[in-house]
Amino acid sequence: MSGEDRALRPRDYKSEVHPVWCPGCGDFGVLNALSKTFATEELPPERIALISGIGCSSRLPAYMHAYGFHGVHGRALPLATGVAVSRPNLTVIAVSGDGDGFSIGGNHFLHACRRNVDFTWIVMDNAVYGMTKGQASPTTEADWTGSKLTPEGSHLAPLQPLEIALAAGCGFIAREFSGNPNGLSRRIAEAIAHPGFAFIQIIAPCITYRPEQMGYKKQVKAGFEPTEDRREAYAQLLDGGPLTTGLLYRTRLPQWQPEARREEPAEALDADFVVGGGTR
Ligand code: SF4
Ligand code: MG
Repeated sequence: MSGEDRALRPRDYKSEVHPVWCPGCGDFGVLNALSKTFATEELPPERIALISGIGCSSRLPAYMHAYGFHGVHGRALPLATGVAVSRPNLTVIAVSGDGDGFSIGGNHFLHACRRNVDFTWIVMDNAVYGMTKGQASPTTEADWTGSKLTPEGSHLAPLQPLEIALAAGCGFIAREFSGNPNGLSRRIAEAIAHPGFAFIQIIAPCITYRPEQMGYKKQVKAGFEPTEDRREAYAQLLDGGPLTTGLLYRTRLPQWQPEARREEPAEALDADFVVGGGTR
């Protein structure tokens, strides 16, 4: 597609692989929003890299025309960091779910915020492990009794991803809803344009294991006012509920971008890893 003159349409970014997501899954809205963003921003597919871990949402790179890497559970962020620093001319987007991104990937979340490499992380959060058939995840409500593993609820307070991002030093923090693909698409475009690490928590219902989330459409409400003041941002998080959406916080911070070394021969890079005999 890259050599053609005509403008690319959202559908041009979708691959021939048919999504295996359950009909009505919130992840479809994210796929549509991303396709729209890429078309609107006129991003050539060969300039896009989508990096994921494991889970229902992490299948997304296979459904798009772009470079993609389906990694291992919880490791989308270090993979995306490596791609972004070694290929700074690519638009890099890491794609995760709440189980994958906030549990085993939780450590990477903290350090991606403080490292501030220039890429975008979208997390499709349905507060459940969907792919493994519906266990409580880090963002599941403490009193959710929908899993046989936690029939009386987990009794664990849900993780607060936006508060964590703010505390860890992230410079772009937003929450959006998969049921509003146009608004989500515009927010993803802003995140891509942000110079540094940008985080969007996307409320993306799992209609199979959390059917009550189908009611979110009537419950989400735009409410955050973007600020550069962390105190104000915290106040908005404490005042708003878990279904309040919008851009919460945006500020420019120093980025970590080591000099790319891709021109060096592989042997020179190998030398760095010689145990006891490194030449650098
Ligand atoms: Fe989507 Fe849930 Fe089905 Fe996974 S199990 S595809 S998250 S609806
Ligand atoms: Mg999930």
